[in-house]
Amino acid sequence: MSFYRKKHKKTYPPDINHVSVPGLVSGINMQSSLSRLYDIFVQTLETHPDVAQPDKSTVIDSSHFYAAAGDDLIRLVLSDSTVTVVDAAIADQIKACKFAKYEKLFTGAVYAACAAQMLNGGDFLSAIKLAEKAADFNWLDLFPQDTILEANHRLDPQRPGLDSIKAWLKTRFCMYPFNWVEINDNNKVFSCCATFLPTPLCTFDDVDRDGADAVLKSPALQKIRASILDGSFRYCSKMHCTAITNKWLISREEGLNLVKNLGPWPQHMMLAYDRSCNLSCPSCRRDMIVVSKYEQDRFKVISEKLVEPLLPHVDNIYVTGSGDPFGSIHFRTLLQKYCRDAVKKEPRLFLETNGVLCDKKAWDDIGLYGHVKDVLVSIDAATEATYKIVRRGGDFQRLLKNMRFLSELRRNGDIPHLLQRFVVQALNFREMADFVRMGLDFGVDSVEFNLIRNWGTFTTEEFAHNNIGSTEHPDHQEFINILRDPIFDYPIVNLSGMQNLRPVGTKIEQPTHSPGMAVTVSEVLLRLYAVFLHTVVEHPAVVANGNIKDSAVFCETTAGIIDTLLQIPDCETLMHTIQNDAPADIPPQHVGSFIGVVFAACASRAAARGKIHMAQKLTDEAIIRNPFDTFIQSTVAHIRQMTSQQAV
Ligand code: SF4
Repeated sequence: MSFYRKKHKKTYPPDINHVSVPGLVSGINMQSSLSRLYDIFVQTLETHPDVAQPDKSTVIDSSHFYAAAGDDLIRLVLSDSTVTVVDAAIADQIKACKFAKYEKLFTGAVYAACAAQMLNGGDFLSAIKLAEKAADFNWLDLFPQDTILEANHRLDPQRPGLDSIKAWLKTRFCMYPFNWVEINDNNKVFSCCATFLPTPLCTFDDVDRDGADAVLKSPALQKIRASILDGSFRYCSKMHCTAITNKWLISREEGLNLVKNLGPWPQHMMLAYDRSCNLSCPSCRRDMIVVSKYEQDRFKVISEKLVEPLLPHVDNIYVTGSGDPFGSIHFRTLLQKYCRDAVKKEPRLFLETNGVLCDKKAWDDIGLYGHVKDVLVSIDAATEATYKIVRRGGDFQRLLKNMRFLSELRRNGDIPHLLQRFVVQALNFREMADFVRMGLDFGVDSVEFNLIRNWGTFTTEEFAHNNIGSTEHPDHQEFINILRDPIFDYPIVNLSGMQNLRPVGTKIEQPTHSPGMAVTVSEVLLRLYAVFLHTVVEHPAVVANGNIKDSAVFCETTAGIIDTLLQIPDCETLMHTIQNDAPADIPPQHVGSFIGVVFAACASRAAARGKIHMAQKLTDEAIIRNPFDTFIQSTVAHIRQMTSQQAV
């Protein structure tokens, strides 16, 4: 019996009688089945602690409702209908029943239960269709997400199924619930991104009453941590969490060691409670959001009771996941105050912005120089025409000007990382490849793509029209074909959940003469060999007893040329090409050490771009060739540190 089946055979709560109606399938109409289901739903919702967020605004795991309802009753809803009829009928029938209080939540939960039933019955396409419908109503609900993952796996066994994901998670660890706090715009505080882990730690009312203790001593936090420690990750989204989908989680042993040394304070704080923004992008909101005086006062309380007590202790401060740091009076004031009074002098700020107000004047006014670690600019378009629609109220030319300003800050080392983000939807998916090219032009460290989600701003129909990730969308196949483009293999690209949508076997056919490379790999290696010879002669510290002792100088001098080599996105191809195309006339005694230092330089640059797996492989190969190279050893240590940071 698969994991999936075992999980949903459980019943909860124990005092609910399972509905068993043998032989009645054709005799009961859908509405009376729905009425009985509604009673069960309300009971599980109100009594089971894990079904919904405490204020019952959002369903987060309807599997408990499915378990309590039992297969028979769900089968009654499905009856003999085709999935298309069921799909159309459920919402209509529920509307007709007039379940005033929880109609929307209930509708989603019924779709989710029907999807699970379809999955168990082996109708995987219908399962996906109904689960996607469920997600339209309860988009944080983990249950239909699991169904989609499992159904996709059954249709294409090369895609990861729940059993294999769960088995892998048993060996992994995540630091988020141990050192992250996220203050959200829905008046709740989380220990991770709320989309990845929708169980809140506490509400703003709890903070108002108990201050920072509401977070630090939260019972939900203990429960979530226990789920990481027991390897179940039961509160985490296996579909949305990029640490899970990209397999970035650290090993269990490493995690257990790291948590031993943690103090009582989180190390990371995401401020995402003010939705104020200078734009009103349709994927995020319907209208421009300007917060009221009441909300401003509320933010002040949260700031005084939670943010400011945590500020001296946290290492990284993220502003903001909810609006724009430059478009929010509250965040601008907070940032100004922070930059003026910062106790820790090293850069600790991560700014997430639409970029339109992020210009030199803003940096001067707030005093940001020296305080910023990362800038992430959300753009969603590579052309002015599309930008006008997806970034309603934005000015493309002004954005490009500000990107040039940020690019210069990045080049000068004033900001260590610059990133671009693109929310993929029907309107813009054809511009994804150009967006990567735009990132290459601005010299960004990462181009991140996320599929559009319904944050409650779209009607179901509008969302269906925009959701290019849905198999139901008429342009979905074109989108899948676009994902085949080898440009998405570039090291700076992060496709997040869309990685799973790429046709299996998509791989760049990497010619020796790389696309976009002005010169051939052989020419690049020839230049590198010249630098190698020069470095060995000019810097005696590089070599000792015939061995490379410290290749740092070579790696620093060649960073620009090495970046050209890193246009080859696949690590195996890169290593193979370097070995094959090394100049033929290198004396045999130099070949191993030369290739070793090139690998070391590539590893160091790959690590700087966050390509940890690639960097690890390259250092493994580099150290075989130059085992005494202290630069490789320091790169290995740096990668380890990055791995643990990435895990948090
Ligand atoms: S595994 Fe993912 S969802 Fe779970 S805590 Fe870590 S980052 Fe969050």
